[in-house]
Amino acid sequence: MEARGGRAACLALGLMLLCSSLDAATAAPAGPQPPSAVGQFWQVSDLHLDPTYHITSDRTKVCSSSKGVNASDPGPFGDFLCDSPYQLILSAFTFMKDSEQQVSFMIWTGDSPPHVPVKELSTKLVINIIGNMSSTIRNFFPDVQVFPALGNHDYWPQDQLPVTTSEVYNAVADFWKPWLSDEAISTFRKGGFYTQLFEASGSSQPLRIISLNTNLYYSPNRVTVNITDPANQLAWLEGILEASSQKKEKVYIIGHVPVGYLPYARNTTALRKYYNERLIKIFRKYSGVIAGQFFGHTHRDSVMVLLDEEERPVNSLFVAPAVTPVKNVWQMESNNPGVRLYQYDLLNYSLLDLWQFYLDLRDANKKNESNWKLEYILTKAYGIEDLKPESLYEMAKQLSVPHSRLFEQYYSNFIVSYDKTIVCEGGCKSCHICAIKYLDYSSYTDCIKREALWR
Ligand SMILES: [Zn+2]
Ligand SMILES: [Zn+2]
Repeated sequence: MEARGGRAACLALGLMLLCSSLDAATAAPAGPQPPSAVGQFWQVSDLHLDPTYHITSDRTKVCSSSKGVNASDPGPFGDFLCDSPYQLILSAFTFMKDSEQQVSFMIWTGDSPPHVPVKELSTKLVINIIGNMSSTIRNFFPDVQVFPALGNHDYWPQDQLPVTTSEVYNAVADFWKPWLSDEAISTFRKGGFYTQLFEASGSSQPLRIISLNTNLYYSPNRVTVNITDPANQLAWLEGILEASSQKKEKVYIIGHVPVGYLPYARNTTALRKYYNERLIKIFRKYSGVIAGQFFGHTHRDSVMVLLDEEERPVNSLFVAPAVTPVKNVWQMESNNPGVRLYQYDLLNYSLLDLWQFYLDLRDANKKNESNWKLEYILTKAYGIEDLKPESLYEMAKQLSVPHSRLFEQYYSNFIVSYDKTIVCEGGCKSCHICAIKYLDYSSYTDCIKREALWR
């Protein structure tokens, strides 16, 4: 099983150099093998285009997103104190296109505008930037089905996404019309979320994509304070999942702000606690239908495994790192720009693997050349069979072992190889470990207490 997956991945990816070495390590057993049935899809997230980015001798003026602070080492592909120059975004899409990966679709988990003070943007500017990013993606990949989700920055003022139709929802619906069905577009106009079936060639059953507007639950969103079910999205979600379970469909959930706890902050969920608890309850109830969940927003690379009440692993969740390398001046770490490719079983949509690619920003700026590379293959990096909940649970157990080398690897991947000298131990590691396995209040709090007793 393992060997076959490895070969299939290689063939599908067609990266000959890498494949020959992988094949040697995972040679297929003798005898006829059933034909492999592996599908692939891309995920890109948090593009955060900064249209003001330009190289100039006054480092405070390189980009608005540095907010008056000196850019650190600006080059053609960007700077760790700035959001993405257009050239960085073009280099990411050029790499994806030139890799000639056969993909069935792409998911795009939001956040196109830059991190700048509210006054420097407007509804019109935000709409223009989302439009620009949408047409850039469509021009690069005219034949690829894209499933987008809205981010907390995809609105003006940022984070304040409304519970009814709005100028932004309507404008974005028009940009996304080429990718979405009339029905999806009509729900999107009302609340910024939608569902759509995807018919994969070579697959026996369709896949349902549910694109959630989790920004309605994001803590800084003041519009939804005291609303039990903003835009009735929770009731809608339950209805869709209930119907899917009756029709025996498989579902991928996509969204921008992730559920669960932030891995870099103690006791902090990105969503308001009440909504997080409600979503976890729904995801547990319908874990048999949900074959994967995909988010962005943190700009870092992390995994979560949802456990049921009996601590059995029931769902796999992935947070993809950003394309933007931006960080605040007081933050120690950032992330290199990343894009990723998932592999799934065409028969049942269970997740088989992910290939994380990245751009070493310092190196790219130095050489004036963008050399996007493979950072890691998840199953190989962590020695697991596939990306199913049971396998991720195994991985999580290995990571929590004291002085685990695997955790050092996980942390380096978390920051997309930003800086190998940064270590995460003690309380830092506890936060990561608890966030991976415990997504609801009571189990997470217990985990943090247990970790504190050990240390
Ligand atoms: Zn973002
Ligand atoms: Zn965000």
